[in-house]
Amino acid sequence: MGEIRLHMFTSNINCSNNTPFLPQKDLLPAFYMNNSNAQPHRSRLNLAASAFFTTILAIILPIIVAGCAAQTGAVSAKPNPISTGLPAVPAAIAPQMGAGAAGSATNRAPQPQQIPAAPLGPRPKVLIIATGGTIAGAQEQPGTTGAYRAGSLTAEQIIASVPELPRYADVESEQFSNVASTAITPAQWIALSRRINKVLSERKDLAGVVVTHGTDRLEETAFFLYLTIRSDKPVVVVGAQHPATGLSPDGPINLLGAVRTAASTAAVGKGVMVVMDDRIISARETRKNYQRVGGFSGGDMGLLGVVASSGVEFFFAPVRKHGSQSEFDLAGVDSVLPRVELTFSYPGGTGVTFDTLPAAVVVATTGFTRAEGTSYQALRRKGVVVATAFPSGDNVTAVGGGEGGPPAGATSATSATSATGANGGRGGAGGAGATGTAAGTASGSAIDQPPLPPQVTVQHLTPQKARILMMVALTKTHDPRELQKIFLQY
Ligand code: ASP
Repeated sequence: MGEIRLHMFTSNINCSNNTPFLPQKDLLPAFYMNNSNAQPHRSRLNLAASAFFTTILAIILPIIVAGCAAQTGAVSAKPNPISTGLPAVPAAIAPQMGAGAAGSATNRAPQPQQIPAAPLGPRPKVLIIATGGTIAGAQEQPGTTGAYRAGSLTAEQIIASVPELPRYADVESEQFSNVASTAITPAQWIALSRRINKVLSERKDLAGVVVTHGTDRLEETAFFLYLTIRSDKPVVVVGAQHPATGLSPDGPINLLGAVRTAASTAAVGKGVMVVMDDRIISARETRKNYQRVGGFSGGDMGLLGVVASSGVEFFFAPVRKHGSQSEFDLAGVDSVLPRVELTFSYPGGTGVTFDTLPAAVVVATTGFTRAEGTSYQALRRKGVVVATAFPSGDNVTAVGGGEGGPPAGATSATSATSATGANGGRGGAGGAGATGTAAGTASGSAIDQPPLPPQVTVQHLTPQKARILMMVALTKTHDPRELQKIFLQY
């Protein structure tokens, strides 16, 4: 007869508070023989019963162990599949959150589990620069889906919520600001870009930089950095859709993915990226489609790669100018960028007028009305650069003039009449209407006019990103032909 001693199991599954979490007789009545002397820790089972018993234990043992871990905060010493080849996570890297900016007892982040200590070897160094946003958001009633205040937790508090970070990187942090991203201004873009350029040029030991940011303006800041960070080291911008102290915060997993990406040698030369929901997206293409988890995408251009449990995996690389190829040096730039307005074209639209003329206007349009054409042409005559971009940002207009050349419509500075139907024509990718119609319909008196400065056609950029490229490009030139070249390169 076989004999199984239950204490073999119970002794291994005692919780640290000594509460026996064991298969007691009342829990497992079927395990006991019809033996009035049967004791929980010393039971004789017949062979037939033992097979059944073993099967049942195989099922319940993991549940029991999980129960213990949940009670004590302990984590199994068994190797974690994702830690293979990587150092384990040290203890005491998960200090209490919720102190400081959000430190009231009712305003605390979920407590991360303590993970046993282990020596850590050399790991890539990553600097986390925190700017605020929902990823640093504190819920009025923690653990709920209710109202919260973005930009409440500090960089250290956000980092403390991700005990796994040290497994992948030696993390440092800086608090750049702590605001909702709607409060981020172009002046702050410049300051942030300067800071990152400085630290990447001075700190050869840094593998990369992560910027935590609100999601409302995340794609704009990321694209500005994409254009102006003149380094090939990875810079990753990350946010969250759920606040740090709310129900199911996504910030911790997003931050982990961002740090893993910034620490990855595979990310070198890929430009500024956004990591959300394990997706690695070029900052040039990133867009916030909706305010829910999974709301960030790269539109038609898709993802550069993914953060997988096995590692950071890239499938594509951006080929437009970025990083060390960028010509946009902010060193000599004032903290005020040239003013660029963003307008919409719509049925019945009549265009815009300004009391004080901006340097440029980006118009979100698929084609001007007659009146809009007249209005924007008048602005061009006054020296305002006019650029057109599809509202979707997904259009690639057939820009004329050959590779890298100016658009067909734009080259004809002599007369608006010649621009009718130009810039790719109706047979082109569909963006022609904006330029061609604008110029062509307003051409009546063009013969007596000085040459009309060409219009800039935007390829595959959202209007709000086209505005940012225009602001940056205007620090180099105000010539629409040169600006068009820049728009074809970045
Ligand atoms: N209002 C927040 C912000 O942009 C939204 C977010 O982070 O998701 O800062």
